[in-house]
Amino acid sequence: MSESAVVVGAGPNGLMAAVTLARAGWDVTVFEAASHPGGGMRSEELTLPGFVHDVCSAIHPLAIGSPAFRELAASDTPLSDHGLEWVHSDVALAHPLDGGRAAVMHRSLDETAAGLGADARNYRKLFAHHVDAGFDLTDGLLSPFTLPPKHPIHLARYGAVGVLPAHLVAQRRFDTDEARALFAGLAGHSVLSLKAPVTTGYGLMLGVLGHLVGWPLAKGGSQRIADALVAVLQSLGGRVECDRRVESLDELPAADAVLLDVTPRQLLAMGGDAIPARYRRALIRYRYGAGVFKLDWALDGPIPWANENCARAATVHLGGTLDEITASELDVQKGRITERPYTLLAQQSLFDPTRAPTGVQTAWAYCHVPHGSIVDMTARIEAQVERFAPGFRDRIIGRHAMNTEAMERHNANYVGGDIGGGVSDLRQFVRRPSLGLHPWKTPMHGVYLCSSSTPPGAGVHGMCGWHAAQEVLRDVGRTTHRSAQ
Ligand SMILES: Cc1cc2nc3c(=O)[nH]c(=O)nc-3n(C[C@H](O)[C@H](O)[C@H](O)COP(=O)(O)OP(=O)(O)OC[C@H]3O[C@@H](n4cnc5c(N)ncnc54)[C@H](O)[C@@H]3O)c2cc1C
Repeated sequence: MSESAVVVGAGPNGLMAAVTLARAGWDVTVFEAASHPGGGMRSEELTLPGFVHDVCSAIHPLAIGSPAFRELAASDTPLSDHGLEWVHSDVALAHPLDGGRAAVMHRSLDETAAGLGADARNYRKLFAHHVDAGFDLTDGLLSPFTLPPKHPIHLARYGAVGVLPAHLVAQRRFDTDEARALFAGLAGHSVLSLKAPVTTGYGLMLGVLGHLVGWPLAKGGSQRIADALVAVLQSLGGRVECDRRVESLDELPAADAVLLDVTPRQLLAMGGDAIPARYRRALIRYRYGAGVFKLDWALDGPIPWANENCARAATVHLGGTLDEITASELDVQKGRITERPYTLLAQQSLFDPTRAPTGVQTAWAYCHVPHGSIVDMTARIEAQVERFAPGFRDRIIGRHAMNTEAMERHNANYVGGDIGGGVSDLRQFVRRPSLGLHPWKTPMHGVYLCSSSTPPGAGVHGMCGWHAAQEVLRDVGRTTHRSAQ
């Protein structure tokens, strides 16, 4: 008889863990609280009929570049057999500035550098050797430092600059507003102050992936990634049971391994007294970070960007200069409402016509807000779009907003609106959620954590789930979770 696993949570990490074990011959059941699988990969008609919106993740450099997704793509069960198709925009990313200017990140490093004028050489100097390192570097970063690094020289070179605050690096390495702002926008994905350590590392990683694999979206919606993972799981005999919120580990059926795609707070509730004191303390100490305010729009036409390059990019970073973005992110960290929020915008339907009826468009945007904030950021976000696209507001025919409470209702893993499964600063990069070589293992026999609260952290890459599944496979035969009944 084959070994069996129960996975709680059908986010990218839960599903990747499930698929990895099913491919190894395990019998896998996934319990998901929501009525649809996908977690941060769900898409819904949030505004008007026929408009498909990505509720959470939209742009997928981490998925297309992830070792786990690449391994699946090369396997005999590729996600492409189940409808997953990546769509690339003309340019990966645009970052408008006042006066009709814009910085552009192309897939090509040379083209990007050339577009940055006086900073062409500086951009090449910062990025070229990391891009040349290819997947050796990015795979190393997605396989946390707790494992012996395979390419220590690449990692050391990356770490030497990556550990620095992005504001400092952008100021010292670049001279133009364009290059500085472009880098600030990349580093802003860290959801940290740009004056904090390691923010350069996040900016570099996303930029390097942009040059290696692009910043694609999933045709038909991010939900298609989830649907394809579920289809592969089912083809291997596994199953997903939706509308199944798990409150306690005791309610789970007997299994050889239990993998939890949840954050430390939920694990504390589920595990109760079964959690040993030392581990419990680590879970209690675990910190959650800033939240997000999310907007989706139905538009009666494309966003009327002042700079035409913005219409060529699926992702547009709004917020102006390095100093403006730094100030905005600092406000968030200090618990203040930022008046001119750094806003991440995606315009999927421009490149994927399946997202909206003919002639009309969708757009997606969010900004960071203090943890648990319920302040309505709609006007502030729309002012940022209008600033670089005069006439934008007149195009809005439908709108859907989510504050941090709505985010947490949508997905219990977004505690206080934190979409990263916990702060990703230097301390919690090392202690995620506990210090050691095996952060996916809990001290409870046969129980593993596989969410973005474990290395390598946030994003749709499935690597937390993949690593947790590898731990299970290494431990096979040595651990057994049995329910209390
Ligand atoms: C607005 C927004 C924009 C984002 N943009 C991007 C992007 O463009 N690119 C990118 O790579 N990432 C993006 N992300 C981040 C990405 O979505 C997450 O990092 C990723 O989904 C985390 O995956 P996970 O599997 O760890 O957890 P989740 O995706 O959060 O999945 C956890 C699952 O567990 C379920 N669950 C929780 N508790 C229970 C329970 N008790 N019982 C049963 N089920 C339970 C939840 O319902 C959920 O389905 C974005 C997120 C948000 C919210």
